[in-house]
Amino acid sequence: MQQALKSWGIAGAILAALVIAALLIADVGVADSHQPSTLEVGLWIAVAAVAAVHRPLGGAAFGLGTLVLPAVIVRLGGLVAALVAALARLLASMLWRFADRRRKAIRGVGAEVAAAAIVALATLLAAVVWSRLATASFAWRGLVAATVYVATFAALAVLGSRIRHSAWRGVWPRFTLSDLAALTLDAAGWLLGALLADAAATLGWPRVAPILLALALLAAEAARNAFARGASDVRVDDFERLQRAHERILGETSGMGSIAQQIFIECSNILPVEWYQFELAVGEESGQLEFEPGSWWAGPSGVLEEGRPQPATRPRMLPGVHRRASWRILEQSLVVEGEALATVRLWCDPRRIDDGAEELFSTLVPQMASSVHRARLDREARLDPLTGVPVRRILDSGIQRAYRRCCEEGRSMGVIMCDVDHFKNVNDTYGHAAGDEALICVARALEGARRENDLLARYGGEEFTLLLEDTDGEESLQLAERLRRAVESIDLVYEGQRIVLNLSAGVAAFPELHIKTASELLLLADEALYEAKESGRNRCLLYGGRGAFQSIAGPMPVAGNVPLKPPPRIFG
Ligand code: GH3
Ligand code: MG
Ligand code: MG
Repeated sequence: MQQALKSWGIAGAILAALVIAALLIADVGVADSHQPSTLEVGLWIAVAAVAAVHRPLGGAAFGLGTLVLPAVIVRLGGLVAALVAALARLLASMLWRFADRRRKAIRGVGAEVAAAAIVALATLLAAVVWSRLATASFAWRGLVAATVYVATFAALAVLGSRIRHSAWRGVWPRFTLSDLAALTLDAAGWLLGALLADAAATLGWPRVAPILLALALLAAEAARNAFARGASDVRVDDFERLQRAHERILGETSGMGSIAQQIFIECSNILPVEWYQFELAVGEESGQLEFEPGSWWAGPSGVLEEGRPQPATRPRMLPGVHRRASWRILEQSLVVEGEALATVRLWCDPRRIDDGAEELFSTLVPQMASSVHRARLDREARLDPLTGVPVRRILDSGIQRAYRRCCEEGRSMGVIMCDVDHFKNVNDTYGHAAGDEALICVARALEGARRENDLLARYGGEEFTLLLEDTDGEESLQLAERLRRAVESIDLVYEGQRIVLNLSAGVAAFPELHIKTASELLLLADEALYEAKESGRNRCLLYGGRGAFQSIAGPMPVAGNVPLKPPPRIFG
């Protein structure tokens, strides 16, 4: 609101200055004994507005609209010229907005009125100089008037922007090269206009006016061409943008969070997204996979977080004068083969949505849906459907990678193979459903007890295996003990009866043990697990090599006559 008030304040102040200046400089209001007719003033405004639409160099100036100003000064006086300039500038900005609907202008009405007032005041001062140089040649008068106009415009524009942004410090004004380039066109308009006024002095206005009109129409045609080219550039640009967005969304494979992030980025490239939500649909059987959040969101800071958004009640204020606006909430359901996988919700400021942007957003929907679909398939292939922890395949490949790293970089690694004790009894006593629930509880307990970077996988029926990187045998054994205790303290009550769960674990670590392949480490951990079962269950043993094992209490006594151990079971 403050911004809007400032814009209007500037416009008001400049208009007041205009009136005071006009009263002080009474002689510029007097034309060459010519009484202005409304029709003529209207025609000059129309011609100036048409010429001013052509602003190839951009900027807030008047463009070739200045072409008619010398003629109006000569025929109707400086005051009328200032009025013509202000109204034509406003009309030109309306035409500009109409022609360039694709990209909504952020400049508010207040800013446009301020620009018109600045043009008017600059014109008035130029007119004063013009009438003071009554004896000079038209070319000279045009040159001086153009200089005064450009200098006044630049000074007022800088002043206006300082007031708008309350920036009085940092003495030197920021006036860019493109602003100067835009003003060059205004100056050229003044010079050309002065030459035409010169020609009119000898040929008469009826002969020169058509030339002026033709020039204005040429400028308008150039503007039309520029808009058409701009529109086709925008279309090509949109097409390329979409193509890239499709590729990026489809290329994202590393989990739902990253896909939510990628979709957010692509939506923000197209729409003025202030709040964003990506919500996964709750599938019937997905209730057990509770390890992934169901919703991600981002607010104006642009940082993606888990959870639900709490958008502000309405969009932020825009600079300039704008209507109050409510959110435009765009919602797309991502559907594949008739199944809704997720919903994307965008909170946008309706005043800043480019025409056609919503259609662009809808064309991205199939790509978003298929990337979510792929991520879900990938997740289903990676995770065990009952417990939600990764499957054996993930652990096997993880161990291969970790072993390679250990060999190359001299690091250590450990594996823990866990097996629930007498699990068959749980099934036999309480039923298969109770067994399933017990397995889910065990997986949760292990998930809760492991360290963040340890990889836990369901290795078989009631067997779970962990891969511990940068961990030696001793530390792995400690961690196994932590897991064992976590399982021991599971408080599972099924149909009124408490189910006691215990875990045995076998641990093996590299480089303490001499192995040639990663799988050998699993074999040795399995041997330790077998020993833990044999020696009474509900315990953890670390394989120390050559048939020796170590429990948490210390080395296990080695039996004098050790019988040959049966082969490890995992490849049996
Ligand atoms: P031990 O202490 O020697 O490991 O004895 P155990 O009974 O745990 O071992 P065993 O290998 O004899 O039995 C494993 C049981 O686990 C047999 C199988 O029915 C059960 N099981 C495997 N997968 C599942 C499952 O997904 N759900 C349920 N409910 N039971 C399972
Ligand atoms: Mg087993
Ligand atoms: Mg078992």
